[in-house]
Amino acid sequence: MSEVYDVVIIGSGLGGLQCGYILSKEGYKVCILEKNRQYGGCLQIFSRDKAIFDTGVHYIGGLEPGQNLHRYWSYFGLMDKLNLRRMDETGFDRISFGDNGKEYKHAMGYAGFTESLVEQFPSEREGIEKYVAKIKEVCNHFPLYNLKPRDLSGFDMTHFGVSARLFIESCTDDVRLQNVLAGSNALYAGYGDETPLYVHALVINTFIESSYKCIDGGGQITRGMESALKSMGCDMLNYAKVERMLFDGSEANGVELSDGRVIHGKKFISNIHPKATMNLIEEGKLRKSYRNRMTSLQNSLSVFTVHIVFKPETFPYLNYNIYHHCDQDTWSSVNYTKDNWPPSMAIFVPAESRSEKYSSCMNVMAYMNYAETAQWHDTFNTVPKQKSERSQEYQDWKLEKAEKIIDLLETKFPDVRSKIKSYYTSTPLSFRDYIGTEDGSLYGVKKDYKDPLKTYISPKTKVPNLFLTGQNLNMHGMLGVTVSSVVTCGEFMDSNYLLDKITSAS
Ligand SMILES: Cc1cc2nc3c(=O)[nH]c(=O)nc-3n(C[C@H](O)[C@H](O)[C@H](O)COP(=O)(O)OP(=O)(O)OC[C@H]3O[C@@H](n4cnc5c(N)ncnc54)[C@H](O)[C@@H]3O)c2cc1C
Repeated sequence: MSEVYDVVIIGSGLGGLQCGYILSKEGYKVCILEKNRQYGGCLQIFSRDKAIFDTGVHYIGGLEPGQNLHRYWSYFGLMDKLNLRRMDETGFDRISFGDNGKEYKHAMGYAGFTESLVEQFPSEREGIEKYVAKIKEVCNHFPLYNLKPRDLSGFDMTHFGVSARLFIESCTDDVRLQNVLAGSNALYAGYGDETPLYVHALVINTFIESSYKCIDGGGQITRGMESALKSMGCDMLNYAKVERMLFDGSEANGVELSDGRVIHGKKFISNIHPKATMNLIEEGKLRKSYRNRMTSLQNSLSVFTVHIVFKPETFPYLNYNIYHHCDQDTWSSVNYTKDNWPPSMAIFVPAESRSEKYSSCMNVMAYMNYAETAQWHDTFNTVPKQKSERSQEYQDWKLEKAEKIIDLLETKFPDVRSKIKSYYTSTPLSFRDYIGTEDGSLYGVKKDYKDPLKTYISPKTKVPNLFLTGQNLNMHGMLGVTVSSVVTCGEFMDSNYLLDKITSAS
């Protein structure tokens, strides 16, 4: 029999890489299996016409020394390796509505955030301060977000059952301010009648604390993790798609890859969607109720993205993001119709080493339901080994959608078309194929404040030696996934011991 690893990790998203790092550092012999050529999952980058595009990390919060992600990523040895650009502290995120040219700013740092909003809404100080105080209170309620030990004696549901939208509406009657506060809700695919306040708070807090872009793409996060992992003896295999788990009685003892190879292990961590994980396990190995719960989890919706390459030195570099909403109600975008698509767009201009004055490219994202791509459901397009050409009909459909997004972009930048050299698109099918969620979901499992327990996912599964990690476990995003990896590895060692190691690294 081939080598038996202490831990086999399925998927090399940030969560898989970080679990691999923690466990390798503690002396476990780890193997990470990735179905794609590139490691990193949503951290993958691609280049077109010499421009580098990110797929799933446009900016990162909490990276100032002393802040939560900086402290975590110091432990992962990342902070010395990353090439970052601090975003505009007077307005790292800007929110706009309809064809009104005004942009409302989210400033960095809580004092700046508060005062800037008061300046934009002078009669609303009380509501803005109430909002800020609550966001901080909610975040303080999540110990690992503050690198503090968890109380494992019980699961405290305070804050889980509160609606983000209703809370924001309780702070102010000013409808425009409500929508400015919720204006970047594409960051967590906000559903007005479902998204819990804690999801809004944990995401917004990290960016208010500080916001950075990765210069020349987030691929540097993967590269930093990969070199550290390999130097610690972790084996990493790409083109290694796990097809099924193998069992010895009730415990898993190996995984079979799509090319027939078998990798043996004592313990397993799945960094892929819980539903996809269930699909790797044969009937009878799991209680039906558990399998049903995992396979019936609802996901957040997907996106259609236009990746634009500009003619040289024509488009200025924007050191901020724009969330533009056609409607006055920012929560309505997720319920778009065929006629009002795109209901909103998120505009991300990457930071590049070649210039701080001009940008060579831009990503423009608009929500899209997977159902819109249903007719091409049976076609796949990922690594060269699995390429299947999609029809001309699909290419025409993509063109039509891209042109609609560029039309909307022109309402913000009237001369943008003349500056475009070329553009490329990605669809819900791209996310499905590159990440492996069945519907190309942006952030995985959708949380609902009305039924928080339904979407609570434990790192433990009903297979005794199989654990879960990644964005579906806890929260999505760089910080959410980092916290998830610590939660998962807390099943392999004393959590406080691990936290001590992490805190002493910063
Ligand atoms: C469009 C978009 C924009 C985003 N922007 C930001 C942002 O600006 N800032 C931020 O903080 N976060 C952002 N996020 C969220 C963040 O990127 C994700 O939450 C995070 O990267 C998810 O990490 P993960 O560990 O869950 O793994 P994933 O990234 O989901 O990776 C899972 C990996 O498993 C592999 N895999 C799947 N099935 C198999 C199999 N059977 N065998 C082997 N391998 C398999 C996949 O190929 C993939 O590499 C964004 C996400 C998206 C989609």
